[in-house]
Amino acid sequence: MIRLPKSVDTVIIGGGVLGTSAAFHLTDAGHSSVALIDRGPIASGTTPQAAGQTGYLNVDRFAFEFGRYCIEFFENFEQRTGHAIDFRQTGSLRVALTEKYQNDLTARLQAATDLEGDVEFISAERARELVPTFQPQEDSQILLIPRDGYVEPKSVAVAYAAAARDRGAAFHTRVNATGLIVSNGRVTGVRTSEGSIEANWVVLAAGAWTRQFAQQHGLNLRTVPVRHQAFVTTPIADVLPNQPIVRFTEPQLYVRHEAGGLLVGGYGYRPLSFDMNDFDRKFEIAALEADPVYYQQLRDQTKKFFPALESATIVQERRGLPTVSPDGRLVLSEPDGLKGLVVLSACGVGGIDRSPGAGRIVADIICDRQPWIDPAVLSVDRFGDQFSNDASLRAQCEEIYAHHYHETY
Ligand SMILES: Cc1cc2nc3c(=O)[nH]c(=O)nc-3n(C[C@H](O)[C@H](O)[C@H](O)COP(=O)(O)OP(=O)(O)OC[C@H]3O[C@@H](n4cnc5c(N)ncnc54)[C@H](O)[C@@H]3O)c2cc1C
Repeated sequence: MIRLPKSVDTVIIGGGVLGTSAAFHLTDAGHSSVALIDRGPIASGTTPQAAGQTGYLNVDRFAFEFGRYCIEFFENFEQRTGHAIDFRQTGSLRVALTEKYQNDLTARLQAATDLEGDVEFISAERARELVPTFQPQEDSQILLIPRDGYVEPKSVAVAYAAAARDRGAAFHTRVNATGLIVSNGRVTGVRTSEGSIEANWVVLAAGAWTRQFAQQHGLNLRTVPVRHQAFVTTPIADVLPNQPIVRFTEPQLYVRHEAGGLLVGGYGYRPLSFDMNDFDRKFEIAALEADPVYYQQLRDQTKKFFPALESATIVQERRGLPTVSPDGRLVLSEPDGLKGLVVLSACGVGGIDRSPGAGRIVADIICDRQPWIDPAVLSVDRFGDQFSNDASLRAQCEEIYAHHYHETY
């Protein structure tokens, strides 16, 4: 029998990268009475499946400030948390093949100038020098963004958890949250498979299960799990460990080094959302079914720019269920209808990258600090009556996912 505390100030449901970041940011702010529970081990959901890429350069003002905090956090991770992560700041190349997407690159260059970042357009020849297996079209527009990079995603969640534990948080794995305890419109605790915990605050960071969990309390959260997939190849000659990530705005693809081979992922192919009520209660993300057509399309598209993929063998498939909202932004606030609950969801295919900023906002809310980012932008209630039925919500979230690299937020 797992022994849970009878009462704490804050319970966090979910030990993925978002829940653990919340635990770190709360305890780092001096709020140490925190218990995090997870139905499995820490970082056993979508988090370990990720490519772990960071991309700080956003055009939208909100995302720009948010991205700045996140990149600085990753650059100083060990200094901030006391635990090292393997952040490979290889830089990235953002490639526009047609005029239509060149404006996006120009806007990013402007954003970089505002940040005093070292970003520049480079030639196709220079891109080939940096990434020898990449064969860009001569007329491609290519932006080099040196501060981008990638991390091993599980290590980030583990480091947040270790740092939060150093600061007083407790972690209870193999504990399933089954519902909230509510009194007079305010959350007063959590019911779990191992008994109840009283709490003043509950952070709901249950990844793909967030919408389903909240439904039992009458909340219609506009956050939906959408399948994302990537693959890793065997080692390929001339793939360099320190080569920049290559991201194409259209076709929407990313390609980075992984263990001597290439890790390839992309958007726009057969987007598919899920209702977690359709899964068995014991379903785990690692058991998510592959879409072989998606993998084939991804490989066929990428081969045009990375011909070495033709003969490479795929040694690993990665897939999971990141959550997406109808406007592509986080869903992160205390719902009007249920005080004491903080929903932390809809980080899209960017939850590793966005985790520092998301955790900071949770701490702002619970510690009653001056909000760092305009709370209305991320409010759970911002959609009003829009997308209130499942079909329209899922269709819109699939659409947002399908255009992930076309958006400039
Ligand atoms: C192939 C792939 C590539 C990706 N690439 C990138 C990338 O390059 N960069 C990037 O930033 N992001 C990337 N992502 C997205 C990233 O993985 C997600 O955004 C992020 O991991 C989501 O974290 P989370 O904490 O919300 O969810 P999860 O990691 O799924 O964590 C949720 C946790 O909640 C627990 N839980 C659920 N219900 C309960 C309950 N009732 N009681 C107790 N515990 C519960 C689960 O067990 C789980 O551990 C990628 C994703 C995939 C699939």
